[in-house]
Amino acid sequence: MLQAEIKSLLKEDISILIKVPNSGKHYVCDCGEASLLTVKEAQSVSAIFISHTHIDHFANFDGIFRHQIGSGEKVVICGPKNIHQQVEARLKSYTWNLIDENAIEYEIREIVSKEEINVYTLHPPYWNTEFIKTQNFLFEDECVNVDFAILDHKTDSIAYLFKERDTITFHEEASGFRKGKWISELKIAFENNDPDQQIEIEDTIYKASELFHLLTKNEGYKLGVIMDHAVDERNYEKMRTVFTEADKVYIETFYKDLDQEFAKLNYHSFASASGKIMNECKVKEAIPIHFSRRYTESDQQEIETAFYKAFRES
Ligand SMILES: [Zn+2]
Ligand SMILES: [Zn+2]
Repeated sequence: MLQAEIKSLLKEDISILIKVPNSGKHYVCDCGEASLLTVKEAQSVSAIFISHTHIDHFANFDGIFRHQIGSGEKVVICGPKNIHQQVEARLKSYTWNLIDENAIEYEIREIVSKEEINVYTLHPPYWNTEFIKTQNFLFEDECVNVDFAILDHKTDSIAYLFKERDTITFHEEASGFRKGKWISELKIAFENNDPDQQIEIEDTIYKASELFHLLTKNEGYKLGVIMDHAVDERNYEKMRTVFTEADKVYIETFYKDLDQEFAKLNYHSFASASGKIMNECKVKEAIPIHFSRRYTESDQQEIETAFYKAFRES
């Protein structure tokens, strides 16, 4: 089960670390201050997901790459339009004469639209962006695939959904057959939805569909991170499409209900609006994040109370 940890303290800008258990793989969502992010964790990050490049979400990018340089690894950075130019500008603002060209490689995936992702690479010491290709999916590795929604925050703000791979369980005790390579053949037929596939067990041929009852599919855990967004029906439509029935979602809740006129002015959300849309998405667990820095702990409690009231009751 994917695990998320908020790495920023109250009054710090937001950064969330996502860990894949038993794999050592980490992903970061947004680069706020992240006082709680350790050097070791930063070094284990294989992909960085940026919602948008307002300074409170991007200021600590340098702090993270500071720890990644020298790893020799490839790190993927996903983000909104122009993310490649902004990363390049950040990297070029330092002197790199002592750094080897294999010290690290960044691969940047610029989200132009739901179907159009531009892929670029850049290396030390010159950090010139090189366009590689356009693809129609964002991110997939051996642990997760990542879906997204492009929300409106007076600029694109990308909300990400991390989905662990589905797994298939074989119920040996119900089978009565001897184990063999037929089990993996059956699983493949099941994954490919191929009921007519022939499966041979102990010299007898079966149709795969006759054996499907020996398998069950376990849906992969779904974890969402929705950063800054306007309270707006078009945003909500996109959230419902991507985040419905997710297991856990962190959602921007910058303002208290009392301050909702500021939310409107700044294309942000407020407590009961964020709670309500999470209820509409039927997510199992929802967590409000990213509060205005002028708020105290009691303001935060007020936000949480209004958020959970709307989440549970609306
Ligand atoms: Zn913002
Ligand atoms: Zn923000």
